[in-house]
This record gives sequence, structure tokens and C-alpha cells, in this order.
Amino acid sequence: MLQKRAPIITIMGHVDHGKTSLLDFIRHSNLTAREAGGITQHIGAYQIDFQGQKVTFIDTPGHAAFNKMRERGAQVTDLVILVVAANDGVKPQTLESIRFIKESKVPFIVAINKIDLPDLHLEVVKSQLAEAGVLIQEYGGDIEAVEISAKSGLNIDKLLETIVVMADLLELKTDPSAPLEAVVIESTKEKNKGPVARVIVRSGTLQVRQDLIVDEIAGRVRLLENEQGKALEKVLPGEPAEIIGLDDVPEVGSVIRDANASYDQDLTAEFSKTGELEKSFHLSDEINWEKMDLDFMLGDKEKIKLVIKADVKGTLEAILQSLDKDTVEVIACGVGQVTEQDMEIARDGKILLIAFNVKVNNTQKKIAKNMGVKIKEYNIIYHLIEDLQQSMLKLMDSTFDEIVTGEAEILQIFEMKGETIAGVRVKTGELKKSDLLHLKRGEDIIANPVLRIMKHGKEDIDRIGPKNEGGLTFKNKKLDFKVGDIIVAYKKES
Ligand code: GDP
Repeated sequence: MLQKRAPIITIMGHVDHGKTSLLDFIRHSNLTAREAGGITQHIGAYQIDFQGQKVTFIDTPGHAAFNKMRERGAQVTDLVILVVAANDGVKPQTLESIRFIKESKVPFIVAINKIDLPDLHLEVVKSQLAEAGVLIQEYGGDIEAVEISAKSGLNIDKLLETIVVMADLLELKTDPSAPLEAVVIESTKEKNKGPVARVIVRSGTLQVRQDLIVDEIAGRVRLLENEQGKALEKVLPGEPAEIIGLDDVPEVGSVIRDANASYDQDLTAEFSKTGELEKSFHLSDEINWEKMDLDFMLGDKEKIKLVIKADVKGTLEAILQSLDKDTVEVIACGVGQVTEQDMEIARDGKILLIAFNVKVNNTQKKIAKNMGVKIKEYNIIYHLIEDLQQSMLKLMDSTFDEIVTGEAEILQIFEMKGETIAGVRVKTGELKKSDLLHLKRGEDIIANPVLRIMKHGKEDIDRIGPKNEGGLTFKNKKLDFKVGDIIVAYKKES
């Protein structure tokens, strides 16, 4: 029999616009007195009860919203909340999120966040949204927008009410007696628990002692736990849980099924897609960025070499997805503690070992020191990316003299066919499509963009001459350019 299920919500938006704060506020404001003192564990998602209605939130790791995580979120997502900070407006990752939401045809609500801040120009944000194709109701469109503060909690109840109303309209119904489908949103191996799969049940019922199968991995549910670490007997559609009892760690995005049930292939195929990057865990020579995107090959450019260890696959994948392939080369990566073997790999050549959300103890530090291996610990992806950008700039500075061959100012930024285009005018010299570039804001070099397309009007060109104008798009996925920034073209001389 069909029953109503909880909507599954993913929060998207530009870095620092308040996604984590919003997730935290909702989670904490919903704790019952009994749970408030208890220990909560991260199971990749959590469920709240709002006015008698259950709502599930996907709780992605790190502060940055990365494409891959978004895609994964949307595989199980019924509704997206697009967070836009009122003081910052629509930014590159906002546009990316919008593009992704539209491609995946998931309904969404806009949450204009940080409205507690002074001197805001909300109409500017709203018109930026309109320019990006998001016409909110106030502007005559049909997209719901709620003005909130994730810090003070202002209007969060209004946002939750909107979610509940929209979820009602979606008529999310499933049959708990249907064959089980649980989507893996995170997976890891833990010392005491063994392989751990964090899932959201899409359909059917997940139960203790059930025989499971996921890709090549089998197992029997030994323990099901919720976010409060409470053991569950069964998990219904729309609900998250942690499964213990699988024989191995399943891939993120894969679908766990009941080993004893029969399935209609077509119905489930959609959820069994695994990402391109899934193949690339562990072995360095399988991570062949060049093969994945030939355009990224840029001659003999210096790269920062990394060995990466992360706590869970979802995080590792988010890191891999967010690295600038043009400047960073991943020699090896994997899930779990930093081992001596990792250090062995890192000791050859100038390879930095990144420990992400995994503790490096003193003994390990000593071994690393003796081997001459540098280990850096992070727990926020954005910080890692920023550090890498800084190191890259230093690396380039120390190796080469740069000769500036042209400078262009970004005069406007516009969106066309899902692409963010920088409209520029060349102030000095010229800009060629093959040039090495810096993006400068004031005196600071903030990124090293790689050109993808250079256009004049509708025509593709490969050079913009002195005082001429053109439109540029870049290969760097997260390039954060603003009007007034300068694109500097340069040559390297060693
Ligand atoms: P995320 O990268 O999108 O997850 O952003 P965070 O939740 O980490 O927030 C980034 C910064 O903005 C943090 O310093 C937050 O304290 C701050 N922030 C988030 N929401 C609000 C808000 O509603 N008002 C104000 N004033 N600051 C906020």
C-alpha cells in the first residue's frame, strides 16, 4: 500500500553562503529535550520532525558544495534549497547549482540568507537571480523565495513550512513492502564497526538481519543506527540510517538491495550510476586526468603532487572533484588512516601527503619526519583548495620569471546557455587563447584561469588585440571572477 514518505532535501549554493549554518540550525532547533544532551553521530543525512511532518536533509561534508556531491545529492533529492547570501549575491557556484538543478529537473526553493546583516540590497540579489533564469514569485515567476538568517534563525520556520507545502504537492508516496532500494550517500571502514554504509532508503524497508547485495558486495544487516546512535529495527522510505554488516565498503551513489527480492531492472537503473571518479580511488595510474579531459594538458607546467587520504569516500571524491587538474596532480589516494606505505609513495619526489579528516598521531608524525615526508592535515575542503592555490602561486614564482604580454579588464559578467562569460576589454598588449593567465583582484593574484572559449560576438576567435573587447569562458570550474578583475596574460622565462 502506498504511504506518504519524508521529502529528501539537499542544500546547494556558493561557498560561505551559509549551507552548513542552515543545516546546523535546523538540526539543533529540532532536537527534542531528550536528545539534546545525547551524542549525535554523522550519518550523512538527518531527519527532523516539523509540525508532525518528517523531513530528511542530506548533510554533505565540508563547506564547499561540489558538483559531484550535488549530483549525488540530487540522485536521491526531492527538493533543493538554493542558498544565496544576501550580502554577496549570485556567484559562480550559485550559477552552477542553478544549472544543475535545471538539468536534473528537481524542484527548488531559494533561501536568501544572512538577512540579519546591515546595508543589504535584496533587490539586487533578486534581479541577479532573475538574470540567472530564476524568477521568484515577487518578480512574477513561480519560484518560492524565503529571506532567512541561518545565524539568528529568522524565518527558518517559514522555510520549513514552504518545504512541507511543496513536499505535499509532490505527493511523495512509496510502498514500504516494495523491494528495498537504499542509496549509499557515504561509506567508510571503522575500526570497531567494519564496513559502514550510510544510506537513505528510496523504497521498500531496510531491516535488521536482512540479506543485502550492492554491486559485488553482499552482507547481512547486523546493526542499523540513526543519527542519535540509536539502534533501529527497520528504516522506512525517506529515512536515513547507518548500516553495519556489509562485507566490504560500497561505492557512494550505489544502490543496496534485498538479496532475496526480485527487481524490475528499469526502475532501479537510474540509481545505480556511479560517478566517473569512482574508478580512480587508490591507484595513481588509474587517475588519468589527461585522459578524462585532454584540454587540460598544458605542456610542461609545474604541478603540485599529492597523496591524499580521507575519512570517507564521499569526502575523497569531493576533494578530487574540486582540485584544479591544471595545477595539481594526485599521485595516489584512498580512504582511511595514513599508512607507512602512503609515506613511501610520498617520499619519492616532492609529494605532499594530505590527511583529510583523519588523525595523524605522534608516532606517524615521527616516521614521516624521519622519511622527510610532509603531511598536512585538513578538515575543510575549501581551506585545502585555498592552500593549494597559494602553494601553486609560490611554486610558479620561484621557478620562473614572468613576462606580462597583455592585460584585460572584466567589464561585465553574463550567463549564456548555462555558461558564465566574462566580457573583457584589453587594456595593454593582447590576449591570446593559448596564453598563460592570472586573475588579479587589486594587487593580488587570486587564481590562474585557463581559457576555454574566446569569442567576439558570435564568432570564435583566438586573439583579442589592444583596446578590443571579447567574451571569455574558462575551464576552471570554480573560478570566482568579478567585474573589475584583471586578466593578466604572461610568458614564462626560466
Ligand atoms: P557554507 O560554506 O555555505 O557551508 O557556509 P557556512 O555555513 O560555513 O557559513 C559561512 C560563514 O557565514 C560563517 O562564518 C557563518 O557564521 C556565516 N553565516 C552563515 N549564515 C549566516 C547568517 O544568516 N547571518 C550571518 N551574519 N552570517 C552567517
